[in-house]
Amino acid sequence: MSTTTMARADVLREASLIICGRREGKTRSCPSCLRKADAAIRHASGPELNTALVPRLADIICGSAGHPCAMCWDKATTLALELRP
Ligand SMILES: [Zn+2]
Ligand SMILES: [Zn+2]
Repeated sequence: MSTTTMARADVLREASLIICGRREGKTRSCPSCLRKADAAIRHASGPELNTALVPRLADIICGSAGHPCAMCWDKATTLALELRP
């Protein structure tokens, strides 16, 4: 991944697409995933973004109370890896 600093709007769009499910030709997520991405980025921004945040991110994405499903776990891992500064 490029290490150049992405604008927050770009980060948000990328994150929301990861959460919503990336598909070719798809350029935006649904509003619900956009909200989740926004919440996730709030936790994940800054130098501390790393894979240690994955459980927290997975929980946000899944909307679970501490027991995210495997799919959301995967998405959280992707988020942490792709959005790392
Ligand atoms: Zn969605
Ligand atoms: Zn889930």
